[in-house]
Amino acid sequence: MPPGRSGTLWSSKMSMLQVYPGPTVPFDVNDEAKSFKMYCKYLPPIFSTPTGPFMNDLAALQSALFKFRDDRNWKQFHTLKNLIASVSIEAAELLELTQWKTDDEMLAAKSDPVYRQALQEECADVLMYLLLVADEAGFDLLDAAAAKLKKNEQKYPVGLAYGSAKKYTKLAEE
Ligand SMILES: [Mg+2]
Repeated sequence: MPPGRSGTLWSSKMSMLQVYPGPTVPFDVNDEAKSFKMYCKYLPPIFSTPTGPFMNDLAALQSALFKFRDDRNWKQFHTLKNLIASVSIEAAELLELTQWKTDDEMLAAKSDPVYRQALQEECADVLMYLLLVADEAGFDLLDAAAAKLKKNEQKYPVGLAYGSAKKYTKLAEE
C-alpha cells in the first residue's frame, strides 16, 4: 500500500500490525526491529498512534514531528535560537515537577498516574525539541549522543569514577 492513508491501529495483543486502512503487516515477535521497520514503511503522513512500539523508532517519531510542524506552518518560527530556548523552557517544566518535593515524595509520586502522565509529557516535550534542534543544526541526535557517551567514558574511567559523584576534574585528586 502506498503511503497516504490516514490512521493507524496498533494492538499489542495481536501478532499483526494493522495499518488502517491498509494491509495487515506480519509481526515477527522474534524480530521486532524488522517488523517495525516494515510497519513504518506503510505509515501514512497523518497518523494517530501516540503510543505503541513503533515510536521506539526515533526516525519515525522525527518524521511525525516534522509533519506536525509543517502541517501548521510553524517551521518559520523554529529558528535555532527559538528551538534551543524551547528545550530549556520544557526542561524547566520538567524541573517544576520536582519543586518543593523531597526525594521520598518523588519516589511516591512515581506511582501516581497523574504525576506520571505529567512526567512523561514534559520528557516528551524536551525530546521533541531536542530532535528539532538537531535537525535545524544539521546533525543526528543519536550519533551525537553516542559520541558524547564515548567522550564521557574517557572523562570518567570506571577505575576512578566508580561510586563517586565528583566532577571529572576532581577525580584524580583522591
Ligand atoms: Mg511542556
